[in-house]
Amino acid sequence: MSGKTVLISGGGIAGPAVAYWLQRFGFVPTVVERAAAPRPGGHAVDLRGASPGVVERMGLLDEVRGRSLHERGMAFVDADGRHRAEIPVEAFGGRGGVAEIEILRGDLAEVLVDATGDGVEYRYGDHITALDQDADGVRARFASAVEERYDLVIGADGAHSRVRALAFGPEERFAHPLGACTAHYTIPAERAVADGLDLGEWFSVHSAPGRRMVATRPDRDGGIKAMFMIGSSGADDALLRDPVAQRALLRERFADVGWQARAMLAAMDGADDFYFDSYAQVRMPTWSNGRVVLLGDAAYCPSPITGQGTNLALVGAYVLAGELALAGDDVAAGAAAYERALREYVQRNHKLPPGGLSAMLPGSRFAIRMGYAFNRLMTSRFVEPLATRLMLGDDDGFTPRDYPADLASPTRCA
Ligand SMILES: Cc1cc2nc3c(=O)[nH]c(=O)nc-3n(C[C@H](O)[C@H](O)[C@H](O)COP(=O)(O)OP(=O)(O)OC[C@H]3O[C@@H](n4cnc5c(N)ncnc54)[C@H](O)[C@@H]3O)c2cc1C
Repeated sequence: MSGKTVLISGGGIAGPAVAYWLQRFGFVPTVVERAAAPRPGGHAVDLRGASPGVVERMGLLDEVRGRSLHERGMAFVDADGRHRAEIPVEAFGGRGGVAEIEILRGDLAEVLVDATGDGVEYRYGDHITALDQDADGVRARFASAVEERYDLVIGADGAHSRVRALAFGPEERFAHPLGACTAHYTIPAERAVADGLDLGEWFSVHSAPGRRMVATRPDRDGGIKAMFMIGSSGADDALLRDPVAQRALLRERFADVGWQARAMLAAMDGADDFYFDSYAQVRMPTWSNGRVVLLGDAAYCPSPITGQGTNLALVGAYVLAGELALAGDDVAAGAAAYERALREYVQRNHKLPPGGLSAMLPGSRFAIRMGYAFNRLMTSRFVEPLATRLMLGDDDGFTPRDYPADLASPTRCA
């Protein structure tokens, strides 16, 4: 399929990653990103499973490691800030709550965008408003009123994908709420220091009765990533559209929570990256519709609770580009092969951690204390090696096949 044009919606993780590989395999990718400019920073994501191997194949592993966050692990703190249990990074063979490679989402996106080079056009501040496909291509209309035709469109525009809505149907059909909402924002170093917030090296988590959790992670420049989580019966659409109501809800629900919740809430109004969403998994019966293919969170968001979204986005990008290249002009065959290669791996990575959301959001003081005790037991000298062996037995055991760069050669793709 050498020289074929591909429109990629979304310049997050999956978008630039698939653009990188498609370009290597001889396609001509264009990325359209709704945000006006690349957004640095953001929340921390982890490279687990097969994704470090894919990043290594891109020649970017050292750079990613160089930009990664340095966290000692996950600490469960009580209302007075005392560590009641800790899961160090190295526990469970690196499969605890904090992975060996943690990097801010915006930093990883920047590494990927830089790696794509000049052969990929990035258009910021625009998005697709309509898609119309026939046997030979897809006509895309953009908010900027431009209309263009492409051989293929890839929806890599996240869990609330617009491409998915246009080509497959409304979000409610595919997004399955998990029963919790989350808020994230950054507290800059000066503010965190002025407010006496803990700048420690741990992903610190404090649970409060009533299915509430407040947490901090160290930012790379001395600040703090603040995080709140609330158990909820379902996603309230009006709330999800209203940042003022979201902030009010957090203030009300966390008003009586100890540790540093109050100071974190006080810093919320100054945050310019406030993010609020409900947790959901995207499950679709198929990831392609003719010449429109979905990738990453748009197709199979596992939810941040699993810590596998970035893994799936990076591995999915590699496999999709490789299978499209192998399939030559037959987009449907390439999309079907991508799905065959990945579906089982995606399903495995949709598995929630032990105890699921209930373990992360205990309802009572007793359940919170049980959680401390359980984590202390699991990381104890006697149990941790056994638990690690069991977890390694459950190794994700997936290595994508090798798609050689000569897939781009004109003789193969004529
Ligand atoms: C708060 C939070 C915490 C997370 N924590 C973790 C974690 O610890 N570990 C982990 O592995 N993963 C985590 N994730 C998930 C991880 O960020 C995603 O799974 C991963 O980034 C998937 O990449 P993606 O490119 O598919 O989607 P995204 O990273 O969401 O990128 C989608 C891109 O599309 C753009 N876009 C949206 N709509 C349009 C449109 N209509 N047109 C054009 N562009 C559009 C967006 O601006 C964005 O740049 C977390 C996610 C969130 C939200």
